[in-house]
Parts: sequence; C-alpha cells; structure tokens
Amino acid sequence: MSSDQKTMLVSDAPRVLWYADAISADAWAVERLGEKAAALHAMGMAGMEVPPFFVITADATLENGQLGEALQKLIWEHLRRLEQSVGRELGEPDRPLLLSVRGSARNVPAGLLPSVLNLGINTRLAQSLFAHTADDRFVYDCYRRLIQQYAQLVYNIDAIHFTREMRGELANRGWSDEVELDGGSMRELARRFLGVFAIRTGSEFPQEPYAQLNHAILAAMKAGNSLAAMLHARRNGLAGPMPVAVVVQAMVFGNRAANSFTGAAFTRNPNSGKNEVFGEFAAVAQGQHLHATSPIAALKRVAPAVYRQLKGFATRLERTFGDAQEFEFTVEQGKAWVLQSRPAGRTAKAAVRVAVEMARHGIIDKAQAIRLVGPESVEQLLHARFDPRGKPPAIAAGLAASPGAVAGMIAFSAAEAQRRAAQGERIILVRRETDASDVIGMQQCEGILTSSGGMTSHAAVVARGMGKCGIVGAGDLEIDEAGRQMRIGKITLSEADVISLDGASGEVFIGAVRKIEGKLNPALRTLLQWADQVRTLRVYANVDTPADAKTAADLGAQGVGLCRTEHMFFHPRRIMVMRKMILAGRDDLASRQQALDALLPYQRADFVEIFCAMDGLPVVIRLLDPPLHEFLPNAEEDQRELARELGMTLRQVKRRIEQMREFNPMLGHRGCRLAVSYPEILQMQVRAIIEAAIECMGRGVDVRPQIMIPLTISAQELGHLVQQIRSAADRVMREGGVLVGYEIGTMIETPRAALVASTLATLSHFFSFGTNDLTQTTLAMSRDDLAPFLGDYQRHGLLGADPFRTIDREGVGELMALAIRKGREARPDLVVGVCGEHGGDPESIAFFNTIGVDYISCSALRLPVARLAAARAALGDVLH
Ligand code: PEP
Ligand code: MG
Repeated sequence: MSSDQKTMLVSDAPRVLWYADAISADAWAVERLGEKAAALHAMGMAGMEVPPFFVITADATLENGQLGEALQKLIWEHLRRLEQSVGRELGEPDRPLLLSVRGSARNVPAGLLPSVLNLGINTRLAQSLFAHTADDRFVYDCYRRLIQQYAQLVYNIDAIHFTREMRGELANRGWSDEVELDGGSMRELARRFLGVFAIRTGSEFPQEPYAQLNHAILAAMKAGNSLAAMLHARRNGLAGPMPVAVVVQAMVFGNRAANSFTGAAFTRNPNSGKNEVFGEFAAVAQGQHLHATSPIAALKRVAPAVYRQLKGFATRLERTFGDAQEFEFTVEQGKAWVLQSRPAGRTAKAAVRVAVEMARHGIIDKAQAIRLVGPESVEQLLHARFDPRGKPPAIAAGLAASPGAVAGMIAFSAAEAQRRAAQGERIILVRRETDASDVIGMQQCEGILTSSGGMTSHAAVVARGMGKCGIVGAGDLEIDEAGRQMRIGKITLSEADVISLDGASGEVFIGAVRKIEGKLNPALRTLLQWADQVRTLRVYANVDTPADAKTAADLGAQGVGLCRTEHMFFHPRRIMVMRKMILAGRDDLASRQQALDALLPYQRADFVEIFCAMDGLPVVIRLLDPPLHEFLPNAEEDQRELARELGMTLRQVKRRIEQMREFNPMLGHRGCRLAVSYPEILQMQVRAIIEAAIECMGRGVDVRPQIMIPLTISAQELGHLVQQIRSAADRVMREGGVLVGYEIGTMIETPRAALVASTLATLSHFFSFGTNDLTQTTLAMSRDDLAPFLGDYQRHGLLGADPFRTIDREGVGELMALAIRKGREARPDLVVGVCGEHGGDPESIAFFNTIGVDYISCSALRLPVARLAAARAALGDVLH
C-alpha cells in the first residue's frame, strides 16, 4: 500500500481514483464515489486494513455504450498499480490476482447494486490455484460464485437457476445447508454452473480474465439504468439514470480452510448502545446472506487474536467517521480486513447512549453528539412503546398525532368514558372527531382514536397537550357512535372489546399489546444539557394544568408559552358552571356574572400553582379562545342533566344549543371576539391572573405573567382589548394594594394580523404565532377537515409534508417573516414566539431559527425534541 502519491482531484480530473490518493472535499467524494466507495476511501486514507482498490467515479462516461479508449487506458494503469501493490497479477497462474467489482452510489438500498467476487478465475486457473492451495473446496467455491454473480450482473440471469442446481446437489448428498458442501461438491457445482451459464446466456463463460473485468465494469456502470435504480433515483429527486461509481478491489478470502471468517458487525450494540463489538460471523465463508452464523463474542474464545483486530477496527472506524458504524469484514488466514462501513442503524435509546459516551471518551465533540441523535427519536424515549416482538398485525392506521402506547376497552362517548373510567376501567375513547365537550372524557381515558381530523384537529392538539396517546384521521374506521360499534372491513368491535393504540406509528391493534415504559434517562439528560449550551432559541411549554406545569419544569421548559385557559374549565365540577354562564342568554348579565364569580376561584387556584411551578419564568396566559358552544354537551344524557341544573326543559336546552351552532365555528364567534362581546369574561380572567400573581408574590415567588389576546385582526380591536385588560388589572391591583409587573401581547393567527404587524406591535410587548390557525387561515384549509384530501395532494406531489405538522415556509413562513420584520421596525425589543404545534416540529424549528423567532413553545413531552432540534438548528444542520 502506498499513500505517497497524493493527488487533488477536481471536476475535470481523470475519472479513476486510486484508494490512497487524497481527494479535495467530502461533498465531492460522496457525490462521485457513492457511499460505499467514499467509506472505503476514507478507511484507506486512515491507514486501515482495506484491500487495495481503485474506483471508476460516477461521472465517468461511456462512449457508444463502451468504456472508450481514455477510460480503458486509465483502468489498465490502475490495474497495474493494484497488481504491484499486492504482488499478484490478473490471469497469472502462479500468483493470480482475483478481484471484486462492486457498484457504489448515493443513498442506495442494500442489494440494488449487484457485486461480482473472485473475478479472474477460469477453469485453467482454478486447477493451478488448487495445485497451490490443495483446497478444492475454497477454489471451486470461488469459481462457482463468480459464474453465478457474473451471469447475474452482466446478463441479468435470475439467481434461481443456480439456486436450483445447488438444491439438487444438496439433495443428492442428503445435506441441508451449503456449509456442508465439500470440495467434490463445489467442483461439481462449478461444472454445473458453467452449463447453466451456457444455456441461459447462449455463450460460454468467458475464460479471459481481462474480458471478465471489462464486461463486469461496464455492466456495473450501466446498473444505474435498471428500472429499480431509475425509480430509486426518481425518489431521490434525480431525473435520468442513477450515477454509479465502480469499485475494483483485490479479493481477500474468508473461505480459506484455516482461520478464515467473514461477517458483519456494529462498533456498538445497536439496541442498547453498549460499547461492545456486536454482530455475527461465519467460518470458512464468503459473501453475505450467511447461514450458520455465530455471535462475534464467540470469537473471543475461538480466535482471540481476530477478536482483538475487530475491536481495533471498531475504535478506528468510530474515530474515522465520528459515528458508530456497521461494517463488513473478512478474515483470511488470521488477518482481518474491512470491506465496507456505514453509519450504524440503532434504536433511539442506543443513539443517545452512543452519542454521549463517544463524546465523553473524546471520540467526537458535543456538537457532533447532538448531530448524531434525531430529535424526533428522543420523544419515543419518554413515552411507553409496544414491545416490537409482541406486536400483532395492525387492523387500521391513522395519523400518529400524539405518541404513547396504550390499551383499553372502547367507549364511544366522552360521558361513557368518564363513567367507566371512574369505575376503574382503562378506556380508549373512539370518536369520529372530538370537540371541547369531549375534553373531560379525554382526560379520563388512556388514549384517543378518531376517524377524521388532521394533525392539529381538536383531538390531536388536546391529546398532545395532555400527553395522551392519540391517533386521528383513521379513515378506514366506520364509527357508529349511536349504535356503539365500529367496523374495520369485516371486523366489528363494540364496547366490550379491548384495543391498543400505537401513537408513534398510528397503528391500531386488537387486544392489549405488551409494552415497555419510557423515561428521561441520565444519558438523555446529559445530551439535552449539551443542547441547551448551543441553542439560541428559548424553549417554552404549552401548559394547561398545574400537573402539566410540573412536568414541563422537569423537562427543562424556560417558561409557559401558551396556557389555553379554556381547558381549565373542563373539570367535572367546573363545566356545569361554565355551561350556566354560556346559557345565561346574551342580555342576562347578572346570571353570567354569577357563574363567572363561581369560576374565578378555580381559575385563580390553577394560576397560582402554575406560577409557583414556573418561579422566575414567564407564563403566557391566553384569554378564552374557542367558540362557546364547544362547551355544551352533545350527549342527550348530559343535556338532560344540564336542563335539571338550570331548571329548564330538555327541549329548551336543545333549542339553545341549536341556536348557538355556527356554520363555520373556526371563523365565527371565537378568539378575542368573545372578549369584545362579553367583557365580563375577560375581566374575570384578568382578575384571576392578577390575584394569583399577588398571592404568589406574597409567598416569595417571582411571577412573570403575560396576558395574550387570540385571533387579533386589527390595531383598533387590539387597542380596545388592551384598554380593557389594563383597567381590569388596575382595579385588582388597587384593591390588593400591590403592583404586579405583567405584559400584554397578541397572537398572530391571521394573514391580516401579519400584514398589519407594525401597528399591532405598538400595542404589544410580544407576538406569539398561533401557527395552527395561521396555517388554517392562510391556506383556507380547515385543520379539522384536512384528512380526506391530504393523502391525494401528497400522492400527486401537490403538497409535501402535512402543513399542520411542518410549517409551509413559502406561504405561512413568509407571512411570519414579514410580521417579525414589520413588528420589530415598530418595536425593536418585540419578543417573538411560536406556540402552534409547529413549535415542536424539528424542521419547522430549523426555519424559525432563521427568521428571528425568540422562543418556541410545545407540549411538555415534546420539550426534549424541541431542545435538541433548536440546538441542531443553531449548529446549522438542515433537517429533512
Ligand atoms: C394556534 O392556532 O396555533 C394556537 C396555538 O391556538 P389553538 O391551537 O388553541 O387555536
Ligand atoms: Mg389558535
């Protein structure tokens, strides 16, 4: 091996690369070498035990479908170099060089590009090799593999014709596995394979090694034109054939009789992340798809020197690539060689442990550790998940709206869920869709399944906020809520049935599937601390209850970015008072005030607990937002109870509910419009906030309340409400004789609000983008009714990701950037946050980091994802 001749290759350079020549840039390497050759080259440059090779790069072109004179010349030159470096020659009977020819491309699935091993053998050479090695099993094993693989690569002959011969030979000899084949059988197989070759291709197997090499190179270069390769290229955004580089490498043999092995290993355990070489090997074997393998650990006993070499490989591979690797190796008569390496697949748990331990041992820095862990994967660690070994086939699937793994009996109404949960049953609430009146039932159940709705539908948002497992938009379910049944194809399920929901995959199963509990383990805590050191975006939590606030504080929230106060009214004792308030009738202020007075202590008590949990941190509290009819009951039994409480008849209650129904509630009487119509609701909420703040200050808590106005559209509207808030707050402070520092801000949830941001900013300390509504109002796509057509749009390539999950940069994102620019022109110290669901989406977070957002806010259990994603955004990683 010589690495003294180092060449810098540039775009017009020769199209063949010698394995020990330096190349200019990594991007160049992967683009033109493909991952396999780029990894081999990196290992060669690192001085690892890689058999010498050269690469015909992917930008080498053919002339009239042939190699062309200039390329051919380069290939022969590099072949000479290869022969000299290993001291063998192609076709030379005493010291024959055997070669492998393998395709290499970017991002290809295993098996798409075939390989040829042992190239250079022919019938005469086999005899002379046998004379030198006295190992006919080895020699004819090599020969028969070459014949088959050459037929597959160059002539596209199906492997089945050869496999049939193999099975015949095994049956003749009464053996069951190819490891049992002896030298005589291998010789016989080689003979038969030559026959198969002649019949299937209509020509004799080429005996000339140079011809073998040329044809194999040509076929490997053309492999990018195959249908499978073209489809793969198209999926990766390439028009035309997939560019393929070709590696020509000296063979090493794991199928020699003594102390020879082949196998594949991980540098660390891919399940647990433990620092151990983990994998399998087979003795006296070649190639992949090995039968009769043993765990690598067995080598410690069988061949300790080999095991030590593999351990050494693991260390050097990790240092070379800055990541855990899975690698292929061959041991020829005691000497180990590495033939391929790629980043190791691993579980989320292993990913975190590997990253932290590698950084602690100085193999990588903390920034690289952060890059090695996919933000999405860490959420899995906090939620329970199903044991993959115990999963039955799914009966249905929907959108994975909120992670978790739960099992329970079905309930088709929130009231039923609540009743049975109170009796100790584990319940899955199954609904076509949910609305605010289902919230109590949702609180009591294990998980939520709906047949309609998208990622920001009511069910999805509430489930995520509660940290409950949720699957929405499972369109194959026919849910008959009145008949208390659901059908999926031929299966009918009722309230007596148990189902399991996998909130990570969106799958639904019959029965209770075994699960594994999740936790924030010490390695993850460490990684998140490192992430906090590099990120510039602050990470807040969306918190609706004191319990959520405690979880959020534990998971590192730097504040509460959104407290949806309406969720506080869904406690069984409170909802009745709320309903009284709503049904009081527009002009009956006295009854409404009475109900509001009854709600005040509940709301105040919750704020006190949230402020205490968030001592010293900002807490953004949003004034009431949803349309009021969402608080009214749908189920007749609930309506009957309400009628009893209010001294009304059932018919009267039904009529009031009907009167309040809206054609398009998302664009109706909601958001700050409620406060315009019912200032007494705003006054009660402001009173609860300020009184809670005063109480906490009395206890020595550092309180930072921020009052947020939803769905604003104009400065006149905002000014009117800011005025109302100020006078309500002043009144309470005067009564209490205490001055509370508080701020007022607005949500930006409509295109108009974004367009008039400069005037809104003069009235707001902060903007918080409600990207759920802003997406809905910008795209004119309902967040609750997207499911039936989202799939069609994606299938036709009209939409990429679900815009309610990942921000639409060109539309919604542009409006956000505009609003921030205009807002800061008017108020340079304007604080900008995002509190829609996009605040927990890594790809959206990467975007927010570029447009001047100060903080993102997401549900509590998503905080680790957001902290990591914000760190990766700060490191400049592009997430896709
Ligand atoms: C939003 O619209 O993004 C938001 C946070 O408010 P909600 O989801 O409660 O409408
Ligand atoms: Mg909103």
